Amino acid sequence: MTKKALVDTAFSEIDKHRDKIIDIAKSILHEPEEGFKEYKTARKVKKAFEDIGIKYRSDLAITGIKGVLGEGKEGPVIAIIAELDAIINNDYPFADTKTGAAHACGHFAQIAQLIGAAIGLKKIADNLSGQIVLFVVPAEEYINLEFRETLKKEGHIKYYGGKQELIRLGEFDDIDIVIMQHAQSEYSGRKALIADGSNGFIGKNIRFIGKEAHAGDSPYNGINALNAFNIALSAIHAQRETFRDEDSVRVHPIITKGGDGVNNVPSEVKVELYVRARTVKAIKAINKKIDIALMAGAMAVGAQVEISNTPGYLPVENNSQLKSIWAKNAAELIGKENVLYIRPRGGSTDMGDLTQIKPGIHPYVGSFSGELHSREFRVAEEEMAYIISSKIYVLTVIDLLYGEAETAKKIIRDFTPKLSKDKYLELLDSLSYKKRWKYEG
Ligand SMILES: [Zn+2]
Repeated sequence: MTKKALVDTAFSEIDKHRDKIIDIAKSILHEPEEGFKEYKTARKVKKAFEDIGIKYRSDLAITGIKGVLGEGKEGPVIAIIAELDAIINNDYPFADTKTGAAHACGHFAQIAQLIGAAIGLKKIADNLSGQIVLFVVPAEEYINLEFRETLKKEGHIKYYGGKQELIRLGEFDDIDIVIMQHAQSEYSGRKALIADGSNGFIGKNIRFIGKEAHAGDSPYNGINALNAFNIALSAIHAQRETFRDEDSVRVHPIITKGGDGVNNVPSEVKVELYVRARTVKAIKAINKKIDIALMAGAMAVGAQVEISNTPGYLPVENNSQLKSIWAKNAAELIGKENVLYIRPRGGSTDMGDLTQIKPGIHPYVGSFSGELHSREFRVAEEEMAYIISSKIYVLTVIDLLYGEAETAKKIIRDFTPKLSKDKYLELLDSLSYKKRWKYEG
C-alpha cells in the first residue's frame, strides 16, 4: 500500500468513529480520578481496547494499560502515551464532589486522541514495519503525597510518578520511541506547539523544630520555628541572584503548618517546596543552596531542621528529528502558520524522565481555553482536541514505520540517551534523602 493509501484508510476509520471518540473523552472528563486510583477510567480504556480488538495487559503500576498493535512484528516499537489521572481542583465545574478530582489538565483529551489513533492504526498496522504500543499510564500529577507514601510503604510503588514506576518495572524496556501530546490553552484556535523542553524538579518536605513557650509571658524560653523558616526564606531569596537565566530556576515554597496556637511560640513549622530547573545539574546545584539556606534559618534561632527529599521529574528533552516529523504532520492538517515553537515550559512532567532515556517528544495541542489547572479550563473545539490530534499521531507513526521503518531506525541509531535506565534509577535514588540538622556549637 502507498503511504497515501495508508493515511486515507486510517483517517476514514477515525472519521467513521468520530462520535465514539468524543464520547470517551466526555465520559472521562465527567468522572475524574486521582493518580494511582484511576480504576473507572482504566475500565473505560480497556472496554475501548476490547471494542477495537486491541490486545492489552493491565494493572501495570496499579492502573496502567499497555495495548499493542502488530504484536511480535520485527522492527522498532513506537509508544503513544496518554495519562489517566486528574488534578485536584474543587472549584472545577466537573470536579468529583467527594475527592475534588478534576480533569483541568486535559488528560481526558489525551486518552481520546490515543483511542482515535488506535482505531485508525488498527486498520493499517499490518502494513507497517514495527509495533505500536498504546500505553495509558497512571499518576502524572505529583499530588496526594501522603497517599503515595502509604503505597510506597506497603510496597505497591517505589516512585510517585506513573511513568517512573513503569520504567522501574521494565515496562518501557521493549519500547524504542515515545510520543505524547498534551493539551495547551495559551494560544487560541487550532494550534500545534513544540516547546524547547521543560523544567525538572525535586520535591522537599521540610520541618523546623523549635520549642514551645508562652508567647506573651515567656517567649524567651521558646525557640521560634516560624522565625527559623522566615530567616531561611530570606536566605533563599538572597540566593536568587545566583540563579542563571538559562537554567529557568523556580523555587516555590508553601507553609503547610505555621504553628499551633497563636498564644504559643511556634514549635513546629512544616513547609513544602519544589526546586525546579532546566537541567539535572542545575537542580542539584540549586538544591544544595536551598538546603544551606534552610540550615541557616535553623541555626540563626537555635532550631533544628528536618529535610525529606523526593525525586520529582526530570527535564523534558524533545528529540529534534521527532520534533520536525511531528511539526510537519501537524502543519499538513492545520496549516504551517499554526505550528509554533514556544518557550521552554516552567512546569514539569514525568515524560521528562522518559525523554532522558529514550528518543521522545512531548508537544502540545491547542484548541483548549482557560488556564490549565484552573476552573476555566475547557475544550474550545472538539474536532482539533480529539480528531485532528488523533490524526497527527497516525501520520507520525506512519512516517516512522513506513517501508522498512528507516525513519524510526535512524532516530534510534542517532540517539544518545542522557542516562541509561540503571543510571536513571540510581539518580532518582540519590535525589531521595532525609536529613536532620542541628547546630552543635
Ligand atoms: Zn497534564
